[in-house]
Amino acid sequence: MKLTRRAVSAGLAATPFVLGRARAKLPKLPAIADADAQFVRPDDARFAQYATAYNKRTAQTAALRVMARTERGVAQTIDWLRSNRLPFALRSGGHSFEGFSQSTSVVVDTRLMNAIALDGSTLSVGAGTPLGAIYRFVAAHGLDFPGGSCPTVGVSGHAMGGGFGLIARERGLACDRLVGIDLVDANAKPVHADATTNADLFWACRGGGGGTFGAATRFQFRVEPIGRIQVYSASWTLDVKKAAALFRAWQDWAPDAPDEITGIFKLSKRRDGRVVLHIAGQSTGSKPRLRRELDALTDVAAPDAALSIASMSFLAAVNHFSGGWDYETSYSKAKSDFIAAKLPDAGIDALIDGLPPSVVAICDAYGGATGRVAEDATAFAYRTGTRFCIQYYTSWTAPSAAERRLADIRGLYAAMRSWSGGSYVNYPDLDLDDWQSAYWRQNLARLKTVKAAVDPDGVFRHAQSVR
Ligand SMILES: Cc1cc2nc3c(=O)[nH]c(=O)nc-3n(C[C@H](O)[C@H](O)[C@H](O)COP(=O)(O)OP(=O)(O)OC[C@H]3O[C@@H](n4cnc5c(N)ncnc54)[C@H](O)[C@@H]3O)c2cc1C
Repeated sequence: MKLTRRAVSAGLAATPFVLGRARAKLPKLPAIADADAQFVRPDDARFAQYATAYNKRTAQTAALRVMARTERGVAQTIDWLRSNRLPFALRSGGHSFEGFSQSTSVVVDTRLMNAIALDGSTLSVGAGTPLGAIYRFVAAHGLDFPGGSCPTVGVSGHAMGGGFGLIARERGLACDRLVGIDLVDANAKPVHADATTNADLFWACRGGGGGTFGAATRFQFRVEPIGRIQVYSASWTLDVKKAAALFRAWQDWAPDAPDEITGIFKLSKRRDGRVVLHIAGQSTGSKPRLRRELDALTDVAAPDAALSIASMSFLAAVNHFSGGWDYETSYSKAKSDFIAAKLPDAGIDALIDGLPPSVVAICDAYGGATGRVAEDATAFAYRTGTRFCIQYYTSWTAPSAAERRLADIRGLYAAMRSWSGGSYVNYPDLDLDDWQSAYWRQNLARLKTVKAAVDPDGVFRHAQSVR
């Protein structure tokens, strides 16, 4: 059922809803043309379809979802929200691990703002574009986009928080390719930021995280030609001692490998105590050179099956790592650690011994191009000296499993405290006490200054936005 705006407005005005603890009513909805934004509330037939969020653990039912179509629609919505002091969340791909794009109040949803255009080497994408649509578009032009592997992740949260993908060590993070961004600011006015215009805001939007500095409406990225990709993978099932040796070899090799090679190392433990280790990654270089490089790992132990190296197009490589193009949902929890120095043996033991069968540890190799950007050149703080990022992750299907799973992942994280430091803002974690320092370290002070300048009243906020 498609409701007219008047019906929506009348219905909402009559229906009290819960904002946090207080019961409140939505004020009269603003007059916004359908072409600019559409209002979708729980009794709308489209509501369930739009409500989908990656993490069911943190999903909330919004009183109103505003499906924005244009910058003007976003601006008019923000104007109404701020003048009525209504809490709200911004939504792009809906993959926030802690539900920062969820609200029981209003969600400003940019998913329909997904137009992509190419002008020379500048790619322009709407704020709600999923990474998969970007990959399809650029691949058709023989161009790259250095973003993450999940095609349903949205560009806004991803690029504003950093954006690590499997060409990162050669081509940087998604935020490193950002050359301009259009936002609606806390005064509900359109604002553009790039290296020369609103340069502080531009700096903050490259790693400062989504939902803090305004509502992004459009991004401009520099894109570069890309040829064929070598995709590699191998798996081992080893006892704890051999697994530690392989981990040691991986952390010695992957962050210092030639830039053309980016890889991940995934660890999980079987119930019988044996460790399953999986390497996967990409190289833009030659197959023989990649094979030689991987000797550093296959010499430690023979994989369960022969090392696989396959040459494929950029899009086929994206597809290979995508995990499928459908929008998946489950209950999940993630935590992360940036590792600055090689883990000593005791740290490797802590990781492997502490790994419960319900949790995977996924290590993303940094270094290369990600480390050549100065630590204060963008808000993304983990550059020089960062060797890898560990993502601890658990997902489940029955809500009743939550307590056990949360205890499992928290136990592993606790076991790693002596060995690691900061956290990745794109793997947000509400358990963190000092999350601002964990996400932004030395860049926090400047981020706070930018926040105070562009949004002194905290119009844009969520549980872990820059204060
Ligand atoms: C399955 C999965 C795979 C992932 N793979 C990778 C990976 O390979 N590499 C990697 O680096 N990360 C990865 N991530 C993490 C991902 O980058 C973050 O979860 C990212 O923030 C998601 O962005 P989103 O737009 O989909 O999420 P959303 O939940 O929509 O938004 C995330 C944050 O951005 C804000 N936001 C949303 N829209 C806007 C807007 N228009 N303007 C301003 N702020 C906005 C929200 O308020 C929220 O704070 C993965 C996550 C998942 C769940």
